Amino acid sequence: MTLMQRRSLLLGAGALSLGACASTTVLPPPPATARTHLPPLNLSSDRIVRITVCSRPFRPAGPRVEAESLGDKRLVHNYGHGGSGWSLSWGSAEIARELALSGGVGSVAVIGCGAIGLTTATLLQRAGARVTVYASERLPETRSARATGLWTPDSRIADADRVDAAFPDVWERMARASWAMHQTYVGQPAEPVAFLDRYGVGGVRAPDPDTGFQPLPATPPVEIRFASYGSRLAGLTPRSRPLSPDQHGFQAERVRVAPEMQFNIAELSRRLIADFQADGGRLERRTFHTPADLTALSEPVIVNCTGYGARALFGDDTLVPVRGQMAWLPPQPEVRYGFYGNGVSVMSRPDGVGVQRIAGDMFGYDVEGETIDTLEAQDAILRAAAAFAPRPAAV
Ligand SMILES: Cc1cc2nc3c(=O)[nH]c(=O)nc-3n(C[C@H](O)[C@H](O)[C@H](O)COP(=O)(O)OP(=O)(O)OC[C@H]3O[C@@H](n4cnc5c(N)ncnc54)[C@H](O)[C@@H]3O)c2cc1C
Repeated sequence: MTLMQRRSLLLGAGALSLGACASTTVLPPPPATARTHLPPLNLSSDRIVRITVCSRPFRPAGPRVEAESLGDKRLVHNYGHGGSGWSLSWGSAEIARELALSGGVGSVAVIGCGAIGLTTATLLQRAGARVTVYASERLPETRSARATGLWTPDSRIADADRVDAAFPDVWERMARASWAMHQTYVGQPAEPVAFLDRYGVGGVRAPDPDTGFQPLPATPPVEIRFASYGSRLAGLTPRSRPLSPDQHGFQAERVRVAPEMQFNIAELSRRLIADFQADGGRLERRTFHTPADLTALSEPVIVNCTGYGARALFGDDTLVPVRGQMAWLPPQPEVRYGFYGNGVSVMSRPDGVGVQRIAGDMFGYDVEGETIDTLEAQDAILRAAAAFAPRPAAV
């Protein structure tokens, strides 16, 4: 299930999932908690503190996780995770680790210090390898640091018409292993991973004509059938439930809610780097221009976790950038919920309230460059605020 399909399901009548291991007895829905007074979000575009933009590394055939030879070295690729890199990181790292250590446990070079590189380095280290991470940028500077940070394991992960027959099983293995590992960071100091209520909001009133929203940019003349595997995880994630109007603070026709896992990326990054270094891992800032540059490294095994950088470094022209932008407002620690609907996604993290324009999986597809669009940011905030605006009086 793509992110958009998951969203529409959350907004629709059906429950999200029934557990794969659940018995056939259908239990009544749990009693809803009355929550009429959600702490208000302060949604105003004059409060924007930063706007971040990044390209998702979309690969139609799905992430490349495979081994090959590079001179006398073993080269393992682990890149191309689209809009799912944080979500799938640990499971993908697990497969890359198996490939990297198949000849024995020794020294390994990991190229890349984003979500994929650091989780791969961590698992290699836990298996006993001596690991050095080489990268142009460290995690706070990488594209990974500009992600939304939600559990979105099949967001722009592949083109359903371009994956091989084994991929859905590989994806499921990655997703389940990642989910389990992410749980180990829940409830830790400063909450590197947390569960927050997330509302799906449908039927928000139309804006006033004089405060109309920005029109969407034209989508490219291709239509990708984005792979959708969410149903394979049935029972793993919490189910959503509908709320009656007295149980939420939105001005919307339909509202559902479910706890959703989110990554507090600043703290998770800090933890991953600190733990890696505390266990003897080394970080070295270095840029590689051609695969031949890698042969100069002393390590006999190299894991390539360069994300979209693999397009230039390894000439992988199948990588397509999918642009995404977030507008950030000052943190509101009292707001422990997020929502999506009316064409936006809003989340509350310790480093800020992020507001993102969303408009289907083709939005931002094949948009080169990471240029800030201030109008898009303002529009997203206007749309978000409309979800709370009072309804016009009935006539
Ligand atoms: C707006 C947006 C929202 C997103 N939201 C989510 C979300 O909610 N959940 C989710 O799971 N995913 C999300 N993603 C996707 C996620 O951010 C990516 O899949 C993930 O960041 C990819 O991680 P990476 O480590 O492969 O790449 P990167 O973070 O790009 O890291 C690549 C690393 O390789 C290094 N490198 C590259 N080339 C070279 C070179 N030639 N020499 C040396 N070093 C090099 C870089 O310096 C960097 O350290 C989102 C993406 C965007 C754009």
